[in-house]
Amino acid sequence: MTDLPFKLGDRSIVIVKDVPVLQCPDCHAYLLRDPVMANIERLLESANRSTELAIFRYAA
Ligand SMILES: [Zn+2]
Repeated sequence: MTDLPFKLGDRSIVIVKDVPVLQCPDCHAYLLRDPVMANIERLLESANRSTELAIFRYAA
């Protein structure tokens, strides 16, 4: 699990905490499974884009 930042438009950043990720064994990049990405997209859609920084906790 890790905390991931997502940019929303020019000004807003959303940090999602405790995201369950897989890590590439070769380059250590974080990989998100499709259902996890779908949940995060729902979170981001609910975020207020006029807020510069928002922090959510991922909950499956
Ligand atoms: Zn890789």
